[in-house]
Amino acid sequence: MSAHDELEAEKRDERAPLAPADREALSRVLGDAVAFDVPMARRTTLRIGGPADAVASPASAEALRDAIALCADRAIVVTPVGGGSNLLVKDRGVRGVVLSTRRLRGLERLGDSTVRVEAGVSTGKLLSSVTRWELGGLEFLGGVPGSVGGGLIMNAGTYLGEFVDVTREVVSVRLADGGVVRRSGPECGFGYRRSALPKTEIVASATCALWPRARADIEADVRGLRENRRAREPARVSNAGSTFKNPPGDHAGRLIEACGLKGTRVGGAECSSVHANWLVNVGGATARDMLALIELVRERVRAQAGVHLELEIKVIGE
Ligand SMILES: Cc1cc2nc3c(=O)[nH]c(=O)nc-3n(C[C@H](O)[C@H](O)[C@H](O)COP(=O)(O)OP(=O)(O)OC[C@H]3O[C@@H](n4cnc5c(N)ncnc54)[C@H](O)[C@@H]3O)c2cc1C
Repeated sequence: MSAHDELEAEKRDERAPLAPADREALSRVLGDAVAFDVPMARRTTLRIGGPADAVASPASAEALRDAIALCADRAIVVTPVGGGSNLLVKDRGVRGVVLSTRRLRGLERLGDSTVRVEAGVSTGKLLSSVTRWELGGLEFLGGVPGSVGGGLIMNAGTYLGEFVDVTREVVSVRLADGGVVRRSGPECGFGYRRSALPKTEIVASATCALWPRARADIEADVRGLRENRRAREPARVSNAGSTFKNPPGDHAGRLIEACGLKGTRVGGAECSSVHANWLVNVGGATARDMLALIELVRERVRAQAGVHLELEIKVIGE
């Protein structure tokens, strides 16, 4: 994107704040499931981001549809957020309603080896439950934070697998009219850290097809994965995991390190000296710092290696 295009995109991002009448309507319909002027820095693992006009956290699929219907009626822009572990929220925050899935926590075993899970269930909770039920297939989630909804959008995964391997069906709700959409796994268009699930919908739940596996075997794989991660990932610093996707046939971390950028800082944002593809918040970083560091890294890698690094993290807000 050229600097001019970026400026135009930035302008398009600027929206009017939520009107007082919209705030009243949200309070009336959602009660204590809505909060106003919520600092998004508290809702993201990077600990960066200005206030959301409103954060709605419906506690059931029905309440989710009610919240969406209300926003559609009043033409309020909705932004879905899960665990906030792959998000950079800009400094002036998010206009409209951030729709948080964190209270959608239904999880049940259907039949022998299928599970149905709501979008807000954390990947950790899902993994511990299927381990107890002695169902294999989700070992890849060891050490991957966030929610199931965010994991499906991102097709999150590790060298042990990714959501595409186990997803049988995804149920979403259309933001325009609250209509329910069901897609089979292949219809979700999963690829490397992406899905084709439309931005005009919110993922409500999914069904995963797993297989019987001894608890000790599952735990051994997860332990191995966690140990491997501990050895190469920054700890005790605010982060969102890998910042860039790996380009075909290479590793973003290797390319960034080869440019001598490990340890480079802009304000409170740092290219981690432990893993160069983790741009971390060492304290007090703003989104402006992080975006400037992202651009610096991209420029240097483009100039030195001729490779364009695509963002893995999602940037929202204005
Ligand atoms: C320490 C650390 C380690 C990590 N390691 C890995 C790893 O090994 N592998 C990996 O793949 N990722 C990794 N990540 C990144 C992150 O954990 C995953 O991308 C995760 O799946 C994001 O889920 P989330 O719920 O936090 O999504 P969020 O960050 O909340 O959102 C991510 C995107 O999904 C959208 N979204 C979220 N929920 C929904 C929904 N229900 N419906 C529609 N859209 C939605 C958001 O709008 C946003 O665009 C790591 C992150 C951290 C902090």
